[in-house]
Amino acid sequence: MAVPKRKTSKSVRNMRRSHHALKAKGSVECANCGEPKLPHHVCAACGHYDGRSVVKSKPASKV
Ligand SMILES: [Zn+2]
Repeated sequence: MAVPKRKTSKSVRNMRRSHHALKAKGSVECANCGEPKLPHHVCAACGHYDGRSVVKSKPASKV
């Protein structure tokens, strides 16, 4: 097993970790209800996708 010859300094360790931050995933507005939703996903609030209702939900499902 390979063993590091020297201890990694705090500076090098922190420079490596400078790329570890998570970024917020993009979100889009639902075309039906305006709630923020993930792109290419069914809206969790109203169950609409691609302009039509694909999941039965209590409000705004019966036309
Ligand atoms: Zn919606």
